[in-house]
Amino acid sequence: MAEFPAPNKNPEIKCTQVFINNEWVNSVSGRTFPTVNPANGEKIVDVQEGDKADVDKAVAAAKAAFELGSPWRQMDASDRGLLLNRLADLIERDIGYIASLETIDNGKPFNNAVGDIRFSIKVYRYYAGWADKVQGRTIPVDGSFFCYTRHEPVGVCGQIVPWNYPFAMLTWKIAPAVAMGNVCVIKPAEQTPLTALYTCALLKEAGFPPGVVNMVPGYGPTAGAAISEHKDVNKVAFTGSTEVGQIIMQASGMSNLKRTTLELGGKSPNVIFPDADMDLAVENANEAAMTNMGQCCVAGSRTFVHEDIYDEFVRRCVERAKKRTVGDPWSNVENGPQIDEEQMNKILSLVDSGKEQGAKLQCGGSRLGDKGFYIQPTVFSDVTDDMRIAQEEIFGPVQSIFKFKTMGEVLRRANDTSYGLAAACFTNDINTAMTFTQGIKAGSVWVNCYEVVNAQSPFGGFKMSGIGRELGEYGLQQYTEVKNVVIKIPQKNS
Ligand code: NAP
Ligand code: MG
Repeated sequence: MAEFPAPNKNPEIKCTQVFINNEWVNSVSGRTFPTVNPANGEKIVDVQEGDKADVDKAVAAAKAAFELGSPWRQMDASDRGLLLNRLADLIERDIGYIASLETIDNGKPFNNAVGDIRFSIKVYRYYAGWADKVQGRTIPVDGSFFCYTRHEPVGVCGQIVPWNYPFAMLTWKIAPAVAMGNVCVIKPAEQTPLTALYTCALLKEAGFPPGVVNMVPGYGPTAGAAISEHKDVNKVAFTGSTEVGQIIMQASGMSNLKRTTLELGGKSPNVIFPDADMDLAVENANEAAMTNMGQCCVAGSRTFVHEDIYDEFVRRCVERAKKRTVGDPWSNVENGPQIDEEQMNKILSLVDSGKEQGAKLQCGGSRLGDKGFYIQPTVFSDVTDDMRIAQEEIFGPVQSIFKFKTMGEVLRRANDTSYGLAAACFTNDINTAMTFTQGIKAGSVWVNCYEVVNAQSPFGGFKMSGIGRELGEYGLQQYTEVKNVVIKIPQKNS
């Protein structure tokens, strides 16, 4: 493992423009928007604000790069893998700088930012290896025909990225798309464009041909909508809220039936059975709810605890939450600020609703300080299924603890949500674990652990948590079209 990189609290901001055809350009409108440091609420820099006109230019560049005979289409698949590995090397070279950019733009603790970038390097290398290993089949069909399938790139991929894991979510989009020979038009989240834009400089340095990856920073309802409505975009991939996911699905359906993959929200249950290892379960339940300041689509935001251990478990969760360190993201803390004032206020109003609807506020529940967007780690006990904090995605450091009696009851209640992203249980009984993993409706299920996400295995949601999977071999299916080819074989005597 490489040395831990040094932070740079005042990183030079090198990339703030629209990136098309490997060139940096101003937005067509000439407008800009500020990106803010959530740790102090101050503007870091103004970024060019792309909208429909810039998306049109980016899509045209991507389409041209995808034309048959272009350098990209003529490149050997193994060389695409080489480019991705080179990109991973450059990210590794600059990891201290990239993690520092992520910390000032997103507010996440520097240590966590380094973790995100390290994970992303693994994802790039994993998909680099796949570039020349995806193959079709030969199929013995009836008649005198030779039949085979080709797994071809889909074409222009529009990719819309959220702010909670800006660099990692960008990686999950670029790596499989490019490995399979696609071209990309990407919009980073308005709150966190900086590491995405710097990635473009590294893509160019690595040697990716012009037009293969293009980036348009800007707002969702303008630049984002232009991508999902564009007739020359063949596929759209989105991570973010379920509400916007529905808008994107509708736009892609009404324009040209884009292949659509959605990675949306969750209200994931974490179920603690009475035989669980208490220390392990308490620690994981706290992390599940509060890691990344709770701004995590798989957050374990509903902790279901068996009635036999309920009081003791609540007491220990409160003890753990009170010890959770919050503050300056450059120091060795567990939590930094929330992403912006709007999200902070949304979280605080959901906390108020919990109090009003009769949940017991055990600790936290308020803003911390008056500079930056910090919230105290918050624990509610006595939460019931009808409360807003039980139903809505909070996206903040809030743990809600519910009481249950039986397996049948907890499965029914855990599944009684429109979401189905993730779930976990803590138990030492194999039968309990097997029944739970089979009965729960979620795309990721963890036993005696939480949020174990790897480059090699699929990630995505059941129900309204999404469509399709990212990561692993499954993630590649979303970036290829299957072409069936049939060739007549003349018979000797005909
Ligand atoms: P969001 O609106 O879903 O943002 C995600 C991305 O979609 C951003 O790049 C956003 O652009 C873009 N977008 C917004 N409206 C669009 C549209 N009409 N067409 C195309 N793209 C569009 O999420 P948010 O408002 O930042 O956060 C609200 C809630 O969403 C959070 O409280 C949380 O519950 C959930 N969320 C979930 C995830 C996740 O990982 N599943 C991530 C982020 C947020 P802008 O940057 O301009 O908004
Ligand atoms: Mg920012």
